[in-house]
Order: sequence, then structure tokens, then C-alpha cells
Amino acid sequence: MNSETLNSTSLNSKFATSQSMDTASIRQQFPILHRTIRGKRLAYLDSAATTQKPQVVLNSLQQYYSQINANVHRGIHFLSEQASQAYAESRTTVQKFLNAKEARECIFVRGTTEAINLIARCFGEAFVGPNDEILISEMEHHSNIVPWQMLAKRNGAKLKFIPLNPNGDLDLSNLEELLSERTKILAITHVSNAIGTLNPIKMIIDLAHTKGIPVLVDGAQAAPHLKIDVQALDCDFYTFSSHKTYGPTGVGVLYGKAHWLEKLPPYQGGGDMILKVTMQESEYNQLPHKFEAGTPSIAAVIALGTALNFLMNLDREAIRQHEENLLQLTEKMLSNFPGIQIIGSPKQRLALLSFTMKGIHPHDIASIVDQEGVALRAGHHCAMPLMDFFAVNGSSRVSFGLYNNEEDIAQLAHALQQVQTLFKGRI
Ligand code: PLP
Repeated sequence: MNSETLNSTSLNSKFATSQSMDTASIRQQFPILHRTIRGKRLAYLDSAATTQKPQVVLNSLQQYYSQINANVHRGIHFLSEQASQAYAESRTTVQKFLNAKEARECIFVRGTTEAINLIARCFGEAFVGPNDEILISEMEHHSNIVPWQMLAKRNGAKLKFIPLNPNGDLDLSNLEELLSERTKILAITHVSNAIGTLNPIKMIIDLAHTKGIPVLVDGAQAAPHLKIDVQALDCDFYTFSSHKTYGPTGVGVLYGKAHWLEKLPPYQGGGDMILKVTMQESEYNQLPHKFEAGTPSIAAVIALGTALNFLMNLDREAIRQHEENLLQLTEKMLSNFPGIQIIGSPKQRLALLSFTMKGIHPHDIASIVDQEGVALRAGHHCAMPLMDFFAVNGSSRVSFGLYNNEEDIAQLAHALQQVQTLFKGRI
């Protein structure tokens, strides 16, 4: 391995553009990045699993519980009014973040998984019947596979797949045929969580719409990195998770065009989602409350608003460029290691990549680099069909957040050298 790639000073000078983002001052805002792990500096390279949280988000959670803790939409008292107002403001922030036409199109759910389950359940109940078709792709996260399998089983529908090219891009050559007159919905990821492919979703959405087919976009891995404009995309549904977007766990967003959400039956029954209840029947509430039964994750919703404002106040294009530089640097660094194979070579990758090391199990890699303070993901990344496609049991994944820097990559390079030293003779 070329020693130059281990030297973070030389890496810095090679990618001077990434310095246009002040990573040092951003890192200052993330307290966890300053703790040591097993006596080593933390190189957190697992943001695709969950991002770390800036101090403003931590403050927001603390402030909610110490200053305004009360249930929303239920009390006339001062605290309840304040909590309800903060909760509603967070929805307006989400609207701005996604450029949704109306705030009521943004539903708070537990996360991307629940958002997709909600659509599979409610859209499925209203619009999918025996022999209808649901189209997804072979690169989906299990969250965008299993709910559709369950729906297909429940309603006697058929699940079809957009195949992949060997490089890890979608093979769209037959998309027009795959979108048949029986297709009721297309659900597709914006970015692959396992290999980082950035899909041409605008083109896919437009093609589906020429046939009147609605499209759900799983934005879990896109929302933290790209400016999302659901009106420009014209998608019918868009989903993302707070915890991957610098916010707390326990909350996420389902965006849906109002005319679709209005046509769907409710997901869960309970408080807040009703206008009137008798012992026999109920009249459901308006959007967005129709889909938010029960006490929501109030503190997390409010802190999600803080996280999105934090992101929107930064230069998002500079962040994207910074993450792109880190990705290129990592590819270059890994290519210097004998026996390392990066999975796929899609036309565009966003903020993450996966690799295998000949003769060494990904779990062994993750355990050894962990001793060096490096947090990597190992396994199938909840994308078993994609792993099958590439004929691997699993891989090691490096994923970036806006706080990563060249030092993290140099630390990873050093840790991977330890792996190779330990496994000498097996590669
Ligand atoms: N979709 C994609 C592309 C993901 O990467 C993930 C999580 O890794 C999910 C869905 C599920 O997200 P959550 O666990 O936050 O519901």
C-alpha cells in the first residue's frame, strides 16, 4: 500500500475544494466525536446506519423536557399550547426541507420503515387487488421489500423487480414493459444503502407517470445528503428517517401528495386521528392528523425540526462536494490495498461504498478496525437480495456524514493495514 495515502496532510492538499467547508467547526458541534474509543480517536464511518447529533439537537431534546413537556393537541393549558406550537412548527420545517406544497402532506411516523409499511398497508387496502402488480427493484433495503411482500401475500398481488446491471446501476432497459397496466405502485430507493448507487429517480417517476402509476421514493439515504424537492421530483410519496438526518431516533417523515393521502384509509385508530366517535363508528380527522394516531414522539419531532434547520443553515452544496471528495479519497485509498474489492461501480455514488477483503470475513474486519477507533458497518446491510446479486455474504461499508474528514480516512487506512498484518498469508 502506498504510504502517501496514509498521510492526511497530503490528502488535504489533494482535495483543497473540500476545505471550502469548515469541517473543524462543524465537528466542534458534535460532542460524541470528541470522545475516545478504546483509547483511540473516534473515526465514525457509519452515518448511513445513523448519524451523530449536533449540540443544538441535544439542546432541543433537553429543552423540551425541561421547559415545555406536555401532550400536544389535547390541552388548553400554557405548556400544551407551547408543545403543540413547537410540534406544528416542526412540520412546517419539514415542509420547507422537502419543498412540499402543504405542511399537511408531511406526516410524522416512526421512521422510513413505518412510512413504507403505512403506504403498503393503506394504499394496498384501497388500490391493490388479486393479480395486480407492485414494482420494486433488486437493490432495495429490506424495509422496501418486506412490506410489499406482505401486501402481495395479503391481497394476492404479484411483486416484480427492476433488475440490476453488473455495475450496480438499475437496468432500466425494460422499465417501460415492467410498468404494466396491472402495476399499481412503484416503490424505489433514491440511493442504495448498501453500495451507494444514486438512482435517476426523476426519469423513473416521469416514466411511471406516463402510465398513471404512482411512485414512492425511499429517501432514507438521500435526504441527509441532497436537497430534496418533492414538487420538482413530482413523486407521490417520499420517506426519510430523522436519525439518519442528524435528528433523534423514533421519528421519520412520510410525505404524500394530498390527493393520495386523502384517498387512503387511516393506518391506526386512536386518539387525535378522529373528529367524532360513537360506539358504532368514527369520523376521521383531516390530514395530517388522520395518520397520526396516539401521542406522537413529541420531543423527537421537535428536535427533528432543529436538525433540519441546522442542515438547511449550512451550505448543502459544499457538504455534498465535501462528502464526494471523501468518497473519492476512500476509493483511491482502498484501491491501493491488495485483495480489496469495492462492490459495484455505479455511474453515481452518494456518500457510501462497500468492499470485501479477500479471505477475511467482514465481521472480522469490523472488529479489528474497531480496536483502532474506527466504526464501520459489516454484514448484509439489510439488503440480502443485493448481496446475492453480487454473490457475497456480506461486506464492509464506509459511510459519511458532514463531519467526516481526511483524518478519518487515514485512520481507516491504518486500521485496514492492521487487518492485513493480522491475516497475513490468507490474502
Ligand atoms: N431504507 C433505506 C435505504 C435505509 O438505508 C434504511 C435504514 O438503513 C431504511 C430504509 C430503514 O430506515 P429506518 O430503520 O430508520 O426505518
